[in-house]
Amino acid sequence: MIAIAISTTIADGGEYACAVATAGGEPQLLDFDPAALDDQLAGAAGVLLSGGGDVEPARYGESSDLADEVDPRRDAFELALVRRARERGLPTLCICRGVQVANVAFGGTLVDDIGRALGPAAAALHRWEVDGESVRGLIDGHTLAIRPRSLLATIVANESLVTGSRHHQSIARVAADLDVVGTTADGIIEAVEARFASPFWLGVQWHPESTLAQDDGASSAIFAAFVAAAGHFADSRNDR
Ligand code: MN
Repeated sequence: MIAIAISTTIADGGEYACAVATAGGEPQLLDFDPAALDDQLAGAAGVLLSGGGDVEPARYGESSDLADEVDPRRDAFELALVRRARERGLPTLCICRGVQVANVAFGGTLVDDIGRALGPAAAALHRWEVDGESVRGLIDGHTLAIRPRSLLATIVANESLVTGSRHHQSIARVAADLDVVGTTADGIIEAVEARFASPFWLGVQWHPESTLAQDDGASSAIFAAFVAAAGHFADSRNDR
C-alpha cells in the first residue's frame, strides 16, 4: 500500500483523493492537529498539500485587506507538515494553496492579490469565471513556460503547457530553498521545485486534479510520478 497523506478541508478528499487513487495511491486524510502530526505521518509514503483559502499574511510578515478564508489552525498545521515532510524526505506534491504554504514555510512571501498587483486582465486569466463560478477546466491562454530539463518538464514531456487556474494569490519572493520552473507570460510563478534533496518535490499553482482527462496526460502524469516516488519511498522503508 502506498499511503498518501492529504491535507484538505474536503470531507472525502474530493478530486485530490480520486487523482491519488487513480495513480495507485491510498488517500489518507489528515486532521489539522499539529500535536498529532507525527502520528498521522507514521505510515505515510507521500504528502499532498491541497488548495484552499489564503495563508494569513502575518505568516510572511505582511498584512492585507484582501486575504480570503484565512484559517490560522490550518496554516499552523500545514506549515509544520511541509517542513516535517522535508525533514523526513517524504515525496511531496503541493497544489495551489499548498505551494503558497510551502513558499511561506521556507521563508518566501506571497502576492496578496493578482488583480491588485497586475490588473483585472491578469486576475481573470488566473481565475476565469463564468456566471460567478470559477472555471475548473483548462484556460485558453493560461500557458506555462517550463524550464527545460526540470522535473516538471520531464514529467509532462513538454516545455509549454496550458493548464487550469483558480487562484488570486501567488508566490512573490521565492523561498531560497525553492526554484522556479514554470511561469505564465505575465510573470506569475506557477511551478516550483526543491533546491534541497528530495525523492520528489513539486509545487504547482494550478489544479491538475481537475483536468485529468483534458490535457493529453500531463495532469495524470504529475500524479503518476508523485505516487511512483511514494512507492519507492515505501519500498525503501520496508527494506530497512
Ligand atoms: Mn495561474
